[in-house]
Amino acid sequence: MVNYCANPNCHKPLHYLREGKIFLFSGKPSKGNSNVFNLEHFWLCGGCAKNWSLTMDGERGIQLLERKRRRFRAKFVAASAPA
Ligand SMILES: [Zn+2]
Repeated sequence: MVNYCANPNCHKPLHYLREGKIFLFSGKPSKGNSNVFNLEHFWLCGGCAKNWSLTMDGERGIQLLERKRRRFRAKFVAASAPA
């Protein structure tokens, strides 16, 4: 189980699961049984989940993904910004 925010610059301890966002990724197959995949849980706290998402990179492992770089998100932010 995760205990801290997955953002290494935050590392906020996990107290309430209702805050933030849980990510579930399948890891490498278990040794000896290629049909069984280890599931790994990661958590972003509420503050980080607003700006970041998580993605699994096969070689580098878990990577932070800035949500604002997504086109639809950028449009939403621009439309909702105060004049
Ligand atoms: Zn955080």
